[in-house]
Amino acid sequence: MTTLVLFDSLVAARRRLDAALAAAGRPAGEARLLAVSKTKPAALIREAWHLGQRDFGENYVQEALDKQADLADLAGIAWHFIGPLQSNKTRDVAEHFAWVHSVDREKIARRLNDQRPAALGPLDVCLQVNISAESSKSGVSLDDLPTLAEAVLDMPQLRLRGLMAIPAPAEGLAAQRAPFARLRRALEGLRERFPEAPLDTLSMGMTADLEAAVLEGATLVRLGTAIFGERTAKH
Ligand SMILES: *Cc1c(COP(=O)(O)O)cnc(C)c1O
Repeated sequence: MTTLVLFDSLVAARRRLDAALAAAGRPAGEARLLAVSKTKPAALIREAWHLGQRDFGENYVQEALDKQADLADLAGIAWHFIGPLQSNKTRDVAEHFAWVHSVDREKIARRLNDQRPAALGPLDVCLQVNISAESSKSGVSLDDLPTLAEAVLDMPQLRLRGLMAIPAPAEGLAAQRAPFARLRRALEGLRERFPEAPLDTLSMGMTADLEAAVLEGATLVRLGTAIFGERTAKH
């Protein structure tokens, strides 16, 4: 991808998000763009940073660490870990990311909490919810969500910011909205139950379903293909 193409696609992605917010009757700026850069080279992330993008999402720990080393000079860059997280990788994530969107069990949360360097301040965390049960094995069930949330809220090095989901692919706005509405209601439920918690984030919406997610209250949309183009299967 050339710089010019990236410029065009990033501008288009920002316009698409602005239009989706307007269509939802929501204030401009109420949702922000997380640029999902997995499989894409560090040079492209650097270009996006020069175009003002600051939040980047990565799925694979070693790949992310390599890019972070290349990009250590970029002020204000915020790395979000959004992929499945194994126990043996929690230390790297606790030490090298600002956010984790994919916490789905207490054991992983506990390790992140224990391994987070105090000097970095609390790690911002979303709980990944298995919102369309047929599609994926990742994510806590809606039934188990309150218990996990309560446990994470007791962990001082984690700051529970909200919920994340990757619904099963669906065609059409109504079908896409349904799981996002369930996630929104789940967050509302947690807010009622834990009124002191800083629960301000719905991480939902990707290239195929951004509009549906924004209609249901997404605050952080995770766009990969729309910004960086198709991924070649590397993993
Ligand atoms: C890859 C990925 C994305 C981006 O998907 P696109 O369809 O390319 O926008 C978003 N969220 C997660 C968790 C991903 O793994």
